[in-house]
Amino acid sequence: MGNQERIVVVGASLAGLRAAATLREEGFAGALTLVGTEPHRPYNRPPLSKSVLEGDDDVSLPGSEEIDAEWRGGRSAVRLDAEARTVTLDDRAELPYDGLVIATGARPRRLPEEQMALAGVHVLRTIDHALELRKALADVQGRVVVIGGGFIGGEVASTIRAAGHEVTIVDAAEPMVRVLGRTVGSWLADHHRANGVELVTNTRVAELVGEAGRVTGVRLDDSRVVAADLVVVGAGVAPNTEWLEGSGLHVDDGVLTDSRLFAIGHGDIVAAGDVARWPHATFGHETVRIEHWSNANEQGAAAARNLLRGPSEAVPFGQVPALGTRVHGTRLQYAGLPHLADASTVVTGSPEDGKFSVAFTRGDVLVGAATVNFPKELTRLRKAIEAGESL
Ligand SMILES: Cc1cc2nc3c(=O)[nH]c(=O)nc-3n(C[C@H](O)[C@H](O)[C@H](O)COP(=O)(O)OP(=O)(O)OC[C@H]3O[C@@H](n4cnc5c(N)ncnc54)[C@H](O)[C@@H]3O)c2cc1C
Repeated sequence: MGNQERIVVVGASLAGLRAAATLREEGFAGALTLVGTEPHRPYNRPPLSKSVLEGDDDVSLPGSEEIDAEWRGGRSAVRLDAEARTVTLDDRAELPYDGLVIATGARPRRLPEEQMALAGVHVLRTIDHALELRKALADVQGRVVVIGGGFIGGEVASTIRAAGHEVTIVDAAEPMVRVLGRTVGSWLADHHRANGVELVTNTRVAELVGEAGRVTGVRLDDSRVVAADLVVVGAGVAPNTEWLEGSGLHVDDGVLTDSRLFAIGHGDIVAAGDVARWPHATFGHETVRIEHWSNANEQGAAAARNLLRGPSEAVPFGQVPALGTRVHGTRLQYAGLPHLADASTVVTGSPEDGKFSVAFTRGDVLVGAATVNFPKELTRLRKAIEAGESL
């Protein structure tokens, strides 16, 4: 173990919690501080687009209450001085550290603020967002437009549709086609339509329109207006790295780290979760930033262990990403990095039957897999990706 006496974890969600818990499990007995912008103790985000919108408030994350750390909730880090080894908070408090974990995650991309300010326009990242959206859904009887048919947009559309609302997804392409390719994208589009969701694809959003301060529609770049009583903007996320400006850390769509999750050139700083970008050995050391639960969970723990070991004994982080979602009750899962592929093939089942698996290859090597209603196939293909097998 290293000789740290004070470790600061910035970002109090999944990756930060797992890092803090792992530090204690591994025997770190020094001062541990957990800083988080949100006033809440760390909680679980996946229910926000599913059960919370349906009325269930349970977002508990095991271990959140018991963590043996000084808790600075409702406080944001605004500056890092990596030479002096201090983190400054928005109340001007200065936290000195010997070891630092950066786990500040990501936030939703927004449309211009004057459009976001219209009543009836929502994003979904936090429990507060989810409760606001739930309340708005209860108050509004009308059409909900979801901008972006990606993974969160698809889940929100599915949950809201099941509650009886009219739902339209607006997307620049077929849903998830950029991530999972044409076969899955087309199946997903048909699946949404079959479940009563209207799709407006291959068009971009020009602006939101409103009357008397309330959103009334979404204007597309071909001048059409899709009527909307409520809009959920699901246009992806951006990593929270602004507080690192001037710190000397390498930031490029995330905090750049080495394969062991140390910020480049800093043996006392690690990053984990949605904010971290690191070279992944399974994919030719391509740098990747993964926005999935299991990645944040495992990476938070791995980063903490490496911080305690120190750079000379740290080990690379190489978990192959995997994600599962349910859309209108159907299980869609994927593993690896399908977007790196230059070819894809349906290997079992068929989209017409609603049960199939797709393998994604680069050269001959398997780099990704997607399955619909086929969890066993996902497990098999994920292992093959980990092993670097060819198809
Ligand atoms: C609605 C929703 C549903 C999801 N469903 C799934 C799913 O089904 N499966 C799946 O695999 N993944 C899912 N995810 C993604 C998953 O929740 C994320 O990958 C995970 O939360 C990432 O954890 P993190 O700790 O890295 O970052 P985050 O959860 O983004 O947390 C970062 C924390 O740091 C705080 N912070 C930011 N800046 C600062 C600062 N300067 N100082 C202090 N604190 C700061 C933020 O306020 C936040 O609390 C979902 C996400 C959402 C939003």
